[in-house]
Amino acid sequence: MTVSQLPEPVPTSTDALIVGAGPIGLFQVFELGLLGLKAHVVDSLAQAGGQCTELYPDKPIYDIPAVPVCTGRELTDRLLEQIAPFHAGLHFGQEVSRLERQANGRFLVGTSTGSLFDAGVVIIAAGVGAFQARKRDAKGAAELEGRFVHYRVSDPKSFADKDLVICGGGDSALDWALALADKARSIVLVHRRPEFRAAPASVAKLHALQAEGRADLLIGNVQELDTNGGVLAGVRVLCGDGLTRRIAADQVLVFFGLHPKLGPVAEWGLALERKALKVDTARFETSVPGVFAVGDINTYPGKKKLILSGFHEAALAAFAAKEFLSPGQKVHLQYTTTSPIMHRRLGLDGAGDTAAA
Ligand SMILES: Cc1cc2nc3c(=O)[nH]c(=O)nc-3n(C[C@H](O)[C@H](O)[C@H](O)COP(=O)(O)OP(=O)(O)OC[C@H]3O[C@@H](n4cnc5c(N)ncnc54)[C@H](O)[C@@H]3O)c2cc1C
Repeated sequence: MTVSQLPEPVPTSTDALIVGAGPIGLFQVFELGLLGLKAHVVDSLAQAGGQCTELYPDKPIYDIPAVPVCTGRELTDRLLEQIAPFHAGLHFGQEVSRLERQANGRFLVGTSTGSLFDAGVVIIAAGVGAFQARKRDAKGAAELEGRFVHYRVSDPKSFADKDLVICGGGDSALDWALALADKARSIVLVHRRPEFRAAPASVAKLHALQAEGRADLLIGNVQELDTNGGVLAGVRVLCGDGLTRRIAADQVLVFFGLHPKLGPVAEWGLALERKALKVDTARFETSVPGVFAVGDINTYPGKKKLILSGFHEAALAAFAAKEFLSPGQKVHLQYTTTSPIMHRRLGLDGAGDTAAA
């Protein structure tokens, strides 16, 4: 049986499928949970937090209500702690690529790694889009991607005893060069200029490894990848002095940062305005009933791309999602301070709750 003939997996059934695990997607889990709705969250990144962890993990944020200051990473950690009682399924490293309405009115949602979800509602919290690795445009790189050219490390053990070339000058490039220095047979870091964006402490450690002869640094750009019988043999680097040097390499790791791509979200037939999803401000529903959009991905008159605005949108979208899933049923507002139902759902009496009220 070829791969294309394999039957589709049985979809995971859920009340809500959330596209994006940025701060707003995470808080959406909380607001849905308070209303007794279960959620699964999918993100193309390897971890939660969206822009907060990807773009400014250590920078302070000063405008989260009642939190005078916290970093992007701290905000993400606190949100993960806050949603823990609701046991949402978190699925990282996969892009939501498919969204279809089924005959029964529910949604079939598919991801780039083949996961399938059968969701009552879909809430898009996709921010500025799915973050994608910037690719190396060196000759031969595209054909070797996945086997000999990598944009992320999923299994560090696979680089043991290999001749590695690591490209980039940011934290990821330096962190992996340092982490793999003891495992690899050789490491050459190739960076286009002598200055690094990475943390100064990491740069100092790299220079120390270089002085000990355990890593090499080459200032230049990888121009071409050489193969022998379809297997990577080496890379050609155009160096700052104008000379091209050839380095033996078994594997190439590239860390040129990430860029957001609206991607599949733009292809689902939802009304768009300047690359953002149009929503109403009472329900935060898109032009397709049952599909909601919250956070940086949406637009409406007066929209401000702020985390606190997204939190408000998530609260109203949760109420609208509940009404959509239980038509005709009144959804009561209850306070977390005093409501026994809220306490049960928050797991405060140790019982947890899966029943809808
Ligand atoms: C440097 C900087 C500083 C900032 N400082 C502040 C501040 O001080 N205060 C403030 O309020 N705001 C600040 N912001 C803005 C704030 O970070 C954003 O408003 C916030 O991150 C939006 O959250 P979000 O969850 O909507 O989207 P994002 O944080 O962008 O998260 C969206 C997630 O969706 C994922 N995704 C997208 N499409 C798909 C798909 N098809 N499949 C799977 N996953 C997908 C992405 O990978 C991403 O992880 C700052 C932004 C930057 C860049």
